[in-house]
Amino acid sequence: MKRRDIVKGLPLLPLVGGISGGLFPSGSLFAAIDTPQKNVPDYFEELGITRVINAAATMTYLSGSLMLPEVMEAINATAHDFANMHELQDKVGVKIAEMLHCEAAMVTSGAACALVLGTAAAITGTDEEKRKQIPNLPGPRPEVIMQKKHRYVFDQAVATAGAKIVEVENAEEMEKAINERTVMALFFNAATSWYGGEDAIGHEEFIAISRRHQIPTFIDAAADVPPVENLFKYQEMGFDMVTFSGGKMIRGPQSAGLLFGRKDLIEAAKLNHSPYEAPIGRPMKVNKEEIFGMYAALKAYLEKDHKKEWKEWLGRTAYLKDSLTAVSGVRAKVFIPEGRANVFPTLDLFWEKKDISLSPREIYEKLKGGNPSIVTSITTRNSREVLNVGVVLLKPEQVELVAEKIRELLDNS
Ligand SMILES: *Cc1c(COP(=O)(O)O)cnc(C)c1O
Repeated sequence: MKRRDIVKGLPLLPLVGGISGGLFPSGSLFAAIDTPQKNVPDYFEELGITRVINAAATMTYLSGSLMLPEVMEAINATAHDFANMHELQDKVGVKIAEMLHCEAAMVTSGAACALVLGTAAAITGTDEEKRKQIPNLPGPRPEVIMQKKHRYVFDQAVATAGAKIVEVENAEEMEKAINERTVMALFFNAATSWYGGEDAIGHEEFIAISRRHQIPTFIDAAADVPPVENLFKYQEMGFDMVTFSGGKMIRGPQSAGLLFGRKDLIEAAKLNHSPYEAPIGRPMKVNKEEIFGMYAALKAYLEKDHKKEWKEWLGRTAYLKDSLTAVSGVRAKVFIPEGRANVFPTLDLFWEKKDISLSPREIYEKLKGGNPSIVTSITTRNSREVLNVGVVLLKPEQVELVAEKIRELLDNS
């Protein structure tokens, strides 16, 4: 946003001399938005924070993703006025639902929040008393069905909302487990990526069984774009609620996410969320700018030329492969996971001890310990330890730098 646009937005202030000299001290909050380069301290430097080059994947401890320029613009452009949060959530939800071809949608504080709100919605519906009482409803705890092989760290959200998880190992057990306390069935989409193997109960069967008993289904697909088509796939299959993280490859705010699907459930989820004053979701507030930002991120993500981006990623892995296999003894292979999460090209690097004395893990540690710190991954393929270099989160100019730094370590090893 240009400074003159901001000034236009302040019609009651005298335009000459008023802004920097009077009401606002010089270097006011508006100035920072206009000119990020000028007069803004280097906060990384001021606080002694190490800049990280992310040659891995979207990881929460590494601040997720870098927001798209469109997201930053949306955040900056909407920060100067108040809005009614109910209206904002409702209207953004309508737009997102149109974009994703589903009935309703909302912005949550990440997929983890969507799991809490979706479970809460399934427990309370629009019942105000229940909303006030969860997670401690009187009587036996509500139950959520999950496949035993789908249990994962994020399912604690189910307990947060007051339900308990009932594990099943196959379709027959699932049929039998459903009873009058069952409120939802939760499917962890990337379980096969995390743990290997197959789903004991596939998507379609999982939905069919739940439907027969009128149990709402929820699918956690937090990290499951690309491909972009996945943003449409699961509601089309018939899942009642779907979540994706905002701060992973969609490149929205790290603390935002999407919950979408059946209208009655999304409305019930909203009732369990901020800005309502006492519900379970109040500590999971999403601010106004992030709601706008999440909307802008999704719009930009859907409009993106995904084929071109994929080619660009392959170009990066090819560049790294060429420059690093020039070191004698180093071998490299482009690796694209076959599962449902983090499906994009990366580069595996490996070598024999006789050629390079440092192990992949030692190189990993040295890269990570540098300044800037370069974070890659260590992984095992066919019982061989490999250094895996991710390319999708690198800024264009970082590709060469990462190649150079790895090469330096290999050369001197
Ligand atoms: C990242 C992730 C989450 C949590 O998402 P946030 O947006 O960080 O809250 C939940 N489930 C899965 C499978 C994830 O990968």
